Parts: sequence; C-alpha cells; structure tokens
Amino acid sequence: MAASEEDRHLTLAGEFDCIPEPLPTLRHSASHVMAQAVTRLFPEVKLSIGPAIEDGFYYDFLKPAPFLPEDLARIEETMREIVKADYPFTREEMPREAAIRFFEERQEPFKVEILRGIDAPTVSLYRQGDFVDLCRGPHVPSTGAITVFKLLSSSGAYWRGDEKNPMLQRIYGTAWPTREELDKHLWRLEEAKKRDHRKLGRELDLFLWSDVSPGTPFWLPNGWLMVRELERFVRETLDARGYQEISTPILVNKRLWEQSGHWEHYAENMFTVAVEDEVFALKPMNCPESTIVYRHALRSYRDLPLRYADMGRLHRNERSGTLTGLFRVRQFTQDDAHVYCRPDQLQDEITAMLDLVREWYKTFGLDPFYKLSTRPEKRLGSEEQWDGAEAALHDALRVNGLVYDLNPGDGAFYGPKIDIDIQDVIGRRWQIATVQVDFAQPDRFALEYIDTDGQAKRPIMVHRAIFGSFERFVGILTEHFAGAFPTWLAPVQARVLPISQKHGVYAKGVFTRLRSAGVRAELDDRNEKLGYRIREAQVRKVPYMLVVGEREAQNDAVSLRHRTGDDLGAVPVDRVVTELVAEIGSRSATLTVGRSA
Ligand SMILES: [Zn+2]
Ligand SMILES: [Zn+2]
Repeated sequence: MAASEEDRHLTLAGEFDCIPEPLPTLRHSASHVMAQAVTRLFPEVKLSIGPAIEDGFYYDFLKPAPFLPEDLARIEETMREIVKADYPFTREEMPREAAIRFFEERQEPFKVEILRGIDAPTVSLYRQGDFVDLCRGPHVPSTGAITVFKLLSSSGAYWRGDEKNPMLQRIYGTAWPTREELDKHLWRLEEAKKRDHRKLGRELDLFLWSDVSPGTPFWLPNGWLMVRELERFVRETLDARGYQEISTPILVNKRLWEQSGHWEHYAENMFTVAVEDEVFALKPMNCPESTIVYRHALRSYRDLPLRYADMGRLHRNERSGTLTGLFRVRQFTQDDAHVYCRPDQLQDEITAMLDLVREWYKTFGLDPFYKLSTRPEKRLGSEEQWDGAEAALHDALRVNGLVYDLNPGDGAFYGPKIDIDIQDVIGRRWQIATVQVDFAQPDRFALEYIDTDGQAKRPIMVHRAIFGSFERFVGILTEHFAGAFPTWLAPVQARVLPISQKHGVYAKGVFTRLRSAGVRAELDDRNEKLGYRIREAQVRKVPYMLVVGEREAQNDAVSLRHRTGDDLGAVPVDRVVTELVAEIGSRSATLTVGRSA
C-alpha cells in the first residue's frame, strides 16, 4: 500500500515529499503559504507538517490556544498578501547535521525530530520570502500561482497522530486551479454535511454509540434491517454463482497468526486475549482461517475453484482518536470471500468477480472506477507467477470492457490487485472493493491440490470484498441516498395514514394486507393532524404514504403519496400491494409504485 501523505512527510522516504502531480503540488505549496501567514501573525507557533490531502491541505502548529474563526479570516487575508507578493519558492540543500543545527537555532523541535529520523546525508529546504521550511518539494514556481484557495476549519490533532504526544492545532484548507472548481468543492462539502451519516443515523434511528464500546455501533432495529437486507442480497447472489458460505471462529490462537505472518506485521492492530496461559487474538481478517477449511480435505484439480464466502465479524485496534462514525470502526463485518483456483482458472474467476462488482454497484447507482496495481520491487513469488497473475487481471478487465488506471509497482508484496473506487451521487470517491491475488498464504499454509499429472501443486488464493464492510457501506449508502433509501433497503417501506379515527378499521385492513405480503408497513393512526403525520413520514424518508378516508374505503383504494411529495391520487389496494412487492423484489433503485399506466 502506498504511504499516506502524512507518512511521507514524516519519513521523507521517497524521491518526493509530495505526490509530484499538479494538484497536490499546488495544495502542498498553499500549505507553505498558510504556514508563512501563520508565523507572521503568531510568531510563537512551532511548525510541524503540512501535507496535501485529498481535495486540500493542512498544516499543524504547536500553539497553546486553538485558532478561532476570526484567526482563519486574518490568516487568509495574510495569505492573499503573500500570493500578491509572488515570492519564488527557492530550494537549497544542506547537510543533515547543519539542518538540525539550523532548526535548533530557530527553535523548531518538530523539524529537528523529523530530521533526526531521516536517513540521508543531505536534505532540502525551501524558502519563499521570509519563510523557510524543511521539504523535499516539489512546489509551484512562486506564491503567485496559488490564486484560488480557502481555509475551511481548524481542530486539534496529536503530533504523529498519537494521543501520548503533544496536541497541535491543525488548519485545513483547499486550493483549486479555478474558481468554478472551488465553488463545486464547497457545494460538495455543504451537501456532505447535510448527508452526514452520523446525523442521519440519529434522525432515522439506525444505530447508536456508547462509550462502553468505542468505535462499534449498536445497531437499532432500523439500521439492522438494512444490514440484514444487504446480507440477504449478498447471499442470494453468491449462492447463484457457486460460492459456499463458511463461518470461522472470532477468537483464534496466536499460533495461527504467527503462521500467517500477521503476528509479525500486524500485531499492534489486533486485540489479544489471554486464555489458560495461551494468547488468542480477535481475528482482524478471515483469510488464514479459510485456509484451515481448505486443508480439511484432500483437494484435486476437479474440486477447484473453491469459493468460500465468510461474513466474519472482524476487530481491528484502531486508535480511539481516529474512530469516525461508521467510516472507521473497531468491529466490522466484511462481505469477504476467498477463492482457491488453478492458474488456468484465474482469469475466469477474476472476470466473474468484476462482473459481480459491476452488478452490485449498479443496484445502488454507484459508479465504479478500477485501479490495477502490479508487482512491487520487493515481492514474493516467481516471475512466472507474477506474469500469469498480472495477465489474468489485465485480461479480466479487458473482457469486461472496463477502463482502468494502472499503478505499476503498487501491488502487495504477495500479489497484484485490482482496487475499486466508487463515486457517489455528489461526486465523492470511496475505495471499497478489492480483488487481491495472493501467492504467499498458500505457501505459508502449504496448500495443495493434486493435479491431472498426479503431482501436488499450490493453488492460487484470491481475496475479494465488494461492499468492503457492511458498517462502512451502510454509512456510504446513507450519505449517497441522503437517508432516502431504495424501498427494498428502507427500514419502513410504507406507512398507512387514516384521515381520521373513523377510517381506523379500513386503515388497519390495508396495513394487514401489506404486512401479509411481506411489506415492512406501519400504521400511523395517532390522533394528530394528517398534514403533521405526512410531514413526519417524509422526514423519516418512508418511501410510500397510503392515505385512506371515506372515498378510499368505498373503492378499496388508497390515496398514494411518495416521500418526494408526489401525490399519485387514488390507486387500488391490490395494485399497490402487487407493485410494491415487485419493486422490493427487483431491488429497484427508484420508486415506481402507482407510476405505470
Ligand atoms: Zn513543501
Ligand atoms: Zn482475505
């Protein structure tokens, strides 16, 4: 996995400190300008790091008090002066030891700490006007190039993300080539705030949080219904495609993790439990255990491919400071599967997985983007294995007619992979799915099958998850749909609203017919005004409201309303039930009941 921008700044390990692409370069340069403005206005601050991030940049400063909104306005003002002055960014090289002395004299302890961690004889400094920073670059030629920018917010952030370290003050900003792009971005941020799944989760009673288990949702009936629907969707489609579902233990002896290599490389992310003098760990992934299922029988070439789905409950020890709603949790369930196949089957398996990816995302109106990552410098496996696997991934993408980005050298050390991002309705990208070829685990666990020639051979293992985790996917869907879920996913699919108490008996009959047809219906016969009850159903994003009164009762009909506010007039109850059941059964993304002729 590529190092994050933060890691790159802390280690300065690569050729460049920043991604040397135009937009990150612009944003990173803007962070220098912001730091220059901050040191002008608050000379007592100490500088930390200022990376470009997705859609923007930040800089962290040691400062006793947080920045106030009026500080941000002043900083932005000073930044405009710096941009106007058009200072060139100039690079100078300095022996590391000299740079340490330089920053010691300037009383910049974080720069000194970073320098002490750099394993290089020479480092580079960049100056613009009166400001100097330790940096590998690259930057834009001069501060005048940074014309379209905005500071967005400030917050506390621990040095190196560790709560044992000093708390720094971070300012987030964004920079774009044009005013239109900035405006579009600001609109997206505004829209994202309205759609925030943490807010909607509260309003729609989907889940709650408790400090007895940080980073783990307590699913409420409404949210759990959605998880159940997604699980049902996964199971139905996988059953039809020759997958077999297994279920493996959550608490697993450390021996297994030693054999898989997780103990060596991943132990700090695992929760451990002492049991009768032995150490167990809560599984952070399902893979090693699926190999136990593979090994439980002698496998022949005829048995392959074996496709084991395992929707196991996983735990990863994320730092409490990084937990964010459903997007970063400590406990989650993946729609995980491991496919074991022969080399000659690999391309067909990948092709089928990509087909599944396309079909699944289409159901939600999410657009997928594909990235193929190939062999890195340090790797396991033979050249022949890599050639075969990379060709299989390329060809599977081509067979599916998919456009993809190529990330040469970005594969895992144990095999090439395809990562899939999705774009939601407001244009945000989320990385959720991955199809990962693995040469290492079959070796570590000595997996074999007997080939046509009677020889024992190693199968190829493919890891794949499409929704990623149900938790995060529900979070993404909540924001994508702004809580107005397709009917099949909606916790409450229809609400029956009698105009007055007089129509209670008929309303109850309609409600019962919906329930018997398997529709998640509710009856709202509270003694409240109809308008109030309609508004409330709309706030709850209930797809259909079935209003009933005298006329409807006489005609065995309902007055049908969509949550969008559309009033479709009188529709016979039978038709509503039939069309509703069909819409739910087809997992339609749009509301169709009462619309057709
Ligand atoms: Zn820089
Ligand atoms: Zn796996």
